[in-house]
Amino acid sequence: MAGGEKNIWIIANWKSNKTIAEALDWVSTVGPQIPKQENLKVVVCSTFTALSEVKKAITVGNFPLMVGSQDLSSFGVGAYTGEVAAELLKDLVGFSILGHSERRQNFKEDDEMIAKKVVQALQNNITPLVCVQGPEILVPGGCKLVAYEPTFAIGTGNPDTPENANQVASILKEKYGQDLEVIYGGSVTSQNAKSFIVQPNLAGFLIGKASLDAMEFVKIIKECEEF
Ligand code: PEP
Repeated sequence: MAGGEKNIWIIANWKSNKTIAEALDWVSTVGPQIPKQENLKVVVCSTFTALSEVKKAITVGNFPLMVGSQDLSSFGVGAYTGEVAAELLKDLVGFSILGHSERRQNFKEDDEMIAKKVVQALQNNITPLVCVQGPEILVPGGCKLVAYEPTFAIGTGNPDTPENANQVASILKEKYGQDLEVIYGGSVTSQNAKSFIVQPNLAGFLIGKASLDAMEFVKIIKECEEF
């Protein structure tokens, strides 16, 4: 069925998972099954270690699949041991997840640091996907794609209700502009995806655990295909 008006973002967040071989296996399973549909935007955010090979496999396969990172440095290139600057990532990725709750909790990232990362991303033509845990969390200027990810729902099997997620998206759009695209993340599966995607203010998903399984990820895409 032909797609509708709104963009549907289906974004895989692999977190710290998958060897290069596993990543390539996933791409070769998922890639050929993604429908070529204008409004369907599928992105895989692999680990830094697999980005280059994932990108190559997508190019060779000519799959409608884009690549993102799960983070980038708040600094530019230079003497920042262990950091990966946006300028170094820009040839590999079009997107970067920023401000994920796991980074806020485990690496003490705050709004100021996340705003600096957003600046780095934008300066290097990388679309920032900022994660907010509620409508009160700051969305830095220049962000047009946001993931509402309540912490109680991340990796717990306990998603928010589609109605509440839609309400939060509505508040965020009121606050930051109707052109802000808001996606939902938190225990999304092929079983519950449809109930979220029918919500008028939601433009797709950020998917952790369920994205690791290639066939489950394809099922989620298929659930969203007609919208
Ligand atoms: C996430 O970590 O961004 C996420 C949505 O995880 P999960 O789907 O596993 O809840």
